[in-house]
Order: sequence, then C-alpha cells, then structure tokens
Amino acid sequence: MKDGMRTEDRPTAEVLVPSWADGTRRERGLVAGFCTRRGGYGTGRFAELNFSRRWPDPAGAVDRNVALLADQVGFDLSQMFTARQVHGGTGLACDGRDPEVVGAQGADFLVCGEPGRVVAVITADCIPVLLWDPDARCVAAVHAGWRGIMADVIQNAVSELVTRYQARADRLFAAVGPGIDACCFEVGSDVADRFAVRFGPDVVVTMPGRNPHVDLFTPVAVCLDEAGLSADRVERLGECTCCHPDRFFSYRRDGVGIGQHLSFIGLLEVVHR
Ligand SMILES: [Zn+2]
Repeated sequence: MKDGMRTEDRPTAEVLVPSWADGTRRERGLVAGFCTRRGGYGTGRFAELNFSRRWPDPAGAVDRNVALLADQVGFDLSQMFTARQVHGGTGLACDGRDPEVVGAQGADFLVCGEPGRVVAVITADCIPVLLWDPDARCVAAVHAGWRGIMADVIQNAVSELVTRYQARADRLFAAVGPGIDACCFEVGSDVADRFAVRFGPDVVVTMPGRNPHVDLFTPVAVCLDEAGLSADRVERLGECTCCHPDRFFSYRRDGVGIGQHLSFIGLLEVVHR
C-alpha cells in the first residue's frame, strides 16, 4: 500500500566504475561503467536493473532504468547507442548517427568520438569490454562472447579506434567487466578444442565427470595484448555472473526470459579545458 503523500523511493543503480574513469578523470569528460543487476525498477526475473528488451518485462522497467542511469551518471538518454548484437566480429561508428538507425543494425562493438554520446552493450554472461583513448578522445563498447572472441571482435574494435580516430593502441585504457568465468562456462568439446588451439591448452579446464570448462577472461586479455594494449592499462571489474545471482543476471544459470546488464562509455561535452 502506498502513501499518496510520500514520494516513491528512488533506487540507486549499482555501477562498477573503472579506476581510469573515476574521480579526477571525470573532469576530462568521460563516463564509463558496468551496471550490476542491483538498484532499478525491474521485478521478478528482471530484478532490478534490467536493460534487455529481448523479452517482455512485465513491469515495463527498462525505460525507467535507462532514465535512472542517465540521470545518475549524467548523460543524455536520447544519445545512448546500443546495437542489435549478433555474436560477430564487426561494429559500427555512432558519430553523427541516429540511435534508432544504429540500433537496427547488427554489430558487436560501437565506437564514438563525438562528445555527448554514450555507446553501450548489453550482456548476461558474455564479457563487456570498454575502451578509451584520452588523447584521441574516442571510446568503444565491445560485446565479447565466445563467438565474438573467436571472430576477433576486440582486435577489430581497437583497429577501428586507430583508423577512424587516430587512437594509439598502447595509449588505450581498457576495462573488462563481469561475465561468466571458467567455474561455470561448461562447453562442448568442439568449442573447448577451438579455444585450446587458438589460445593454448591452459584456457580449457577439465573437471572429472564433467564437460570441459573454458576460461574466457584469459583469451580477452590475449586479444587486448594482440591488439597492442599495455597490460598495466587493462583492468578487470566484477565477478563470475553465473556464481553471483544476488548481483548479476546469468543466461547460463537462469535460461531464457532473464534480465541483462548495461555497460556504457561516453565522452561528455567539454565545458572547459
Ligand atoms: Zn562461476
């Protein structure tokens, strides 16, 4: 029962913020973070901070969650870009484009060099990766599941930043967000074999009486290294999505009809320099 005189309690979206996007760096005009599932308007299997429109959310909470996050973090929600993610290796640039047009196209990374725009990916188990070049002033959000990793989605995103905005790979900051870890990512032997061939046998974890498990985080680090990033500029945030139902959505754990997280990065309009 609601007291009509009382305003509704407003949740606070839980956001994991890379150290390079926090504090004084923010004065340089950057917002970036990985949302957990905590602090939003979703209910039931979508509780709380769901951003997925893939399944009907009975509470209609996605729009309210976007508005909540935009207001809390400080960006224009009409300038947030997400793509139709297809587990591939290609991406799109958002400069001068319309969010609805970009959102209708298949892409697994989004890049942008235009202040006032935020690029985002939506995940639950797949690994979100955020990239920023502070000097070339450009950003990328990458959706890296096992298929995307195999399709070089991370290297392709870095290449796009380099060619389009004259970014330098060794100057990029990267943050690797929450995703499913080797403890829970059980796969068929075909997938395990492909990862062993591509990234070495150590990324496949064998457990007695179980199918092989694959560590996706080591391949993500390898891809960032192959793309030319410096390891001391790469940061990992969050835990295994599948192991932490209180904090993260997980498709592997809960199946269809679940919520998904938003991971975002954008340059703000620079007021002064
Ligand atoms: Zn786990």
